[in-house]
Amino acid sequence: MKIALIKGDGIGPEVTEQALKVLYAVSERFKCKFEYREALLGGRAIDETGVPLPDETVDICAGSDAVFLGAVGGPKWDGLPGNLRPEAGLLGIRRALKLFANLRPVMLFPQLRTASPLKAEILSQGFDIMIVRELTGGAYFGEKKRVETKDGIKAWDMMEYTSREIERIAGIAFGIARKRRKRITIVDKANVLESSRLWREVTGSIMKDYGDVEIAYMYVDNAAMQLIRNPGQFDVILTENLFGDILSDEASMLAGSLGMLPSASLGASKACLFEPIHGSAPDIAGKDIANPLAAILSCGMLLKYGFGMEKESDAVLEAVNNALDKGYRTADIMQQGMTLVGTEKMGSIVAENILI
Ligand code: NAD
Repeated sequence: MKIALIKGDGIGPEVTEQALKVLYAVSERFKCKFEYREALLGGRAIDETGVPLPDETVDICAGSDAVFLGAVGGPKWDGLPGNLRPEAGLLGIRRALKLFANLRPVMLFPQLRTASPLKAEILSQGFDIMIVRELTGGAYFGEKKRVETKDGIKAWDMMEYTSREIERIAGIAFGIARKRRKRITIVDKANVLESSRLWREVTGSIMKDYGDVEIAYMYVDNAAMQLIRNPGQFDVILTENLFGDILSDEASMLAGSLGMLPSASLGASKACLFEPIHGSAPDIAGKDIANPLAAILSCGMLLKYGFGMEKESDAVLEAVNNALDKGYRTADIMQQGMTLVGTEKMGSIVAENILI
């Protein structure tokens, strides 16, 4: 199985190294073989090739069975025009691989209850949410324009969706809900947005093929509030690109740290992309203090959603649980009485805890 490896910028290379340690441990203990091919994206790609997404990277990724990405970006490249910034590379590779579905699981590790900003009574029921965000449509990809008007410059970003785009992401979300607690909440703003009304029509017609899945609709402003008030009510959340971007970052804080949250982006081509949801965290890069668990858990998702290796994926989750049970914590999730470890050490501990 071929994995394209994009280490990226900032803490990207550090957390990717730890994820790799864990994949090596998986291949040793479960007797499977992964082949790695490194590719450039983002800031490092700009420095070495002048563009954030070299053609070679697209070829390497498209020719692999899965892509693992650390993180890209940083202040060094902030002054560049939009199409030459590291983030353009990120949007470009998502587009090139036709990655239209972003999966972000947000769950509370019971060991980290006190790291969450929510009150104990809200956390007492726990939560385990899968956010399914549409990734290649909506305002981020619709027409963008500026024109001079008598009232000054006017700018717009078109939020647009076709029924086909909605159908394909809904199919993924309903399929996932079916394997979980069979509840799906579709988040939109159908009281004011025409595109949201289309989402309701299309998901409403798909619903009949998934009679066993319970469906609810919720406005995005209410969803933002409900995530904090009662996160335990959600199973799968399905939403469009912009709403999903904001809600998934909000939800990520519920788990205690950005450093705990993995993601998967699935699409039309064979290569899906797996990455921690955090950015390149330039403020802590190179200090051996970044939490590598989001990257490691992203490898767990790679095994499950990229290669269908459920047992191996469960072993990664179990190893993370074991490391937390034994009291090991990086600085972002440190609690009194626990053992503070750096990025490297946490990676090694998880790798040692990969058991058959
Ligand atoms: P960020 O996620 O990099 O950092 C936000 C905060 O969380 C920082 O205080 C950081 O130290 C902390 N943090 C992040 N990951 C952590 C980890 N693993 N362990 C401990 N603490 C962690 O977001 P930002 O500061 O808004 O962005 C920094 C750069 O990353 C920007 O250039 C941005 O464009 C880029 N970015 C890239 C991606 C990506 O590659 N997918 C995603 C988001 C942001």
